[in-house]
Amino acid sequence: MTELANNSGPESAAAHARDALWPNYSPPQDIVFSHGRGSELFTDNGDVYLDFLSGIAVTAFGHAHPHLVQALNSQSEKLWHLSNVFRIPEGERLAARLSENSFAGRVFFANSGTEAIEAGIKAVRGYQVAKGHKEKYRLIGFSDSFHGRTIAAVAASGNPNYIQNFAPTDHGFDQVAWGDIEAVKAAIGEHTAGIIIETVQGEGGIRPVTQAFLSQLRELCDQHGLLLMLDEVQCGVGRTGTLFAHENFGVTPDVLASAKGLGGGFPVGACLTTEEIGQHMVVGTHGSTFGGNPLAMAVGNAVLDLVLEPGLLDDVKRKGAVLREGLENLAASYPTVISTVTGLGLMIGVKCVVPNTDMLTALRANKLLVGKAGDNMVRLLPPLNVSDEHVTQALQTIETVLKQMQ
Ligand SMILES: *Cc1c(COP(=O)(O)O)cnc(C)c1O
Repeated sequence: MTELANNSGPESAAAHARDALWPNYSPPQDIVFSHGRGSELFTDNGDVYLDFLSGIAVTAFGHAHPHLVQALNSQSEKLWHLSNVFRIPEGERLAARLSENSFAGRVFFANSGTEAIEAGIKAVRGYQVAKGHKEKYRLIGFSDSFHGRTIAAVAASGNPNYIQNFAPTDHGFDQVAWGDIEAVKAAIGEHTAGIIIETVQGEGGIRPVTQAFLSQLRELCDQHGLLLMLDEVQCGVGRTGTLFAHENFGVTPDVLASAKGLGGGFPVGACLTTEEIGQHMVVGTHGSTFGGNPLAMAVGNAVLDLVLEPGLLDDVKRKGAVLREGLENLAASYPTVISTVTGLGLMIGVKCVVPNTDMLTALRANKLLVGKAGDNMVRLLPPLNVSDEHVTQALQTIETVLKQMQ
């Protein structure tokens, strides 16, 4: 077993070890990173890559940030895990800090985005039942959404690519077209409990909601006694230049799912609710063995220290604007390769004219890591503390690649 797990072993052993995994991912076979620092990743061959993917918006402060390393190390010497049968002061503190800085009054901690979504769906349904509306259990979701990979999360997204063979029955979700308010109105019925939407669609193609659409959803929810649940697993925690993305639009949700950047690379998920909703999630309704454990909570608090540091969020907006303007200029100069630029803050999508996978591969060959997204986009998710020099370097690399591909 040890030999199989060793990547640096003989080629045949490495290939064999790879085959021990499910074939559900397709990483490039020729790159293995050994360590990272800030916005850079290193291989044992001495190659240096600029990381503008951040583990899909997870390593929000880059790799090996000293404050996060310190928080993890010092907690690791004290206490790793207790179970929620005991009080976890670090978690109480993180929940209180998240509440102080958001709409929330109550928080539940999980280990991933999809679990935060599941908790939110239960909170929505649980609230309706607590209010005497047992009949209200359905949620309305939107086309091209991504809410995670558990059964309820794939059902909520309604995306056939994610559902495949796994959720053949009706799990209580209705889907309407992204941005179509008339379709939302038509979908609301006596069984509707709430609406679930990504404030900025990530996997679907870096599409921010419009102010008008989100306000109209809020109004519809208020009119019909529905709850508005935002999926900010990717776009939250400073990514768009505000702590949570909905602050950009001045619209307040009832329930919000967070994860990804919240742990800076340590698995942390959180479901934020108002006091009114969260108070109904009493003993026996929900739980998680690992969720909110002392290690995760220590790192979560350290991430929040960095996000809430004065000036950080403004700096995200400023660097996002620089990156975006640079990309828009490039799009104007190389219209046969890329077209429009979308996004908010440091969550940026570039629509490709060439196949996005070709663009991704060419950028990687030039030591710049980005992601792909739906609608033939590449997505840029640099660390929130990326330096101005690295933003410039990324734009130069992109221009080099655009020249090659035009
Ligand atoms: C990544 C993501 C999820 C799922 O998070 P996991 O941690 O992979 O379970 C849910 N919603 C959005 C918007 C995401 O980007």
